[in-house]
Amino acid sequence: MPDILVIGSLNVDLVVRAARFPQPGETISGDDLQTLPGGKGANQAMAAARLGASVSMLGRVGKDNFGGSLLDNLQSNSVDTKLVQRDDASTGTAIIIVDSNGQNSIVLSAGANGNVSDADVKTVAFSDFNLLLLQLEIPIETVLSAARRAKESGLRVLLNPAPARALPDELISLPDFLVPNETELSLLTKQPVHDISSAEKAARILFDRGAQTVIVTLGANGALLVTKVIVKHIPPFKVNAVDTTAAGDAFIGGFASGLLQNRSLEESVRYGCACGALATTKFGAQPSLPTKEEVARFIT
Ligand code: ADP
Repeated sequence: MPDILVIGSLNVDLVVRAARFPQPGETISGDDLQTLPGGKGANQAMAAARLGASVSMLGRVGKDNFGGSLLDNLQSNSVDTKLVQRDDASTGTAIIIVDSNGQNSIVLSAGANGNVSDADVKTVAFSDFNLLLLQLEIPIETVLSAARRAKESGLRVLLNPAPARALPDELISLPDFLVPNETELSLLTKQPVHDISSAEKAARILFDRGAQTVIVTLGANGALLVTKVIVKHIPPFKVNAVDTTAAGDAFIGGFASGLLQNRSLEESVRYGCACGALATTKFGAQPSLPTKEEVARFIT
């Protein structure tokens, strides 16, 4: 029986490295194109599966070649794809530029991800799972319906509010865990978020809107765990970052797996930080997601 259900996006990532980002209207040369499996939903599903969790994915891909290869790829990484449907729309695509500092810039075409619906969510036996992972690369109504149904069935729900956007209060209060990065937290709260104290202040605004536990990922500064009773900064693991793509997805897969391995909340955040840090040391999204063994070697 799978522990984790991910309801979210599956994308093809078309990645080019360049010395810097182009200005509007400018053409610059980059390295050879890489075609890689991605999408926050699929990345987080794979991140958790690589760490030993049993994971099921619900979503939609096109009937094109990209869709088939995304399904093969998840299956070969032990993610159950029975709940992924083939759609008439094209497979979701992310066009990603990575600069020489390892920063990324992304344009997303939702494609089939835009058709993941409440009707899809209704088919799920939520009580078969322990934890639901949600992001915002499928329609917001579907995210809301999934969160409601999961809570009715007693599941724990984690919402990664990415890409950044404003949210209805219900999507702040329903999830057991809200896991934004600094940009997402800033957009959610209309507050500047650039360090630990501004992250804590903004997280408190989410508590006023009903949030339960907020975990802010702070990039190279680690993460901040904020509950109604504790505030704890988890320092970063020191690494040589070459590409931050999917660091947040690796963090979430790690945090979720940590919880299912019965680690404490704080230890699960630390485990997530180790996974996020390791993901920055390799190029690409899914290829950079660490295995359980890699994390164990890295942490000790
Ligand atoms: P996102 O990819 O969503 O923007 P972050 O950049 O905040 O997410 O990264 C997620 C987590 O990965 C961070 O909380 C941190 O633990 C880890 N991480 C990211 N970048 C680095 C880095 N340069 N050095 C060490 N850890 C990092």
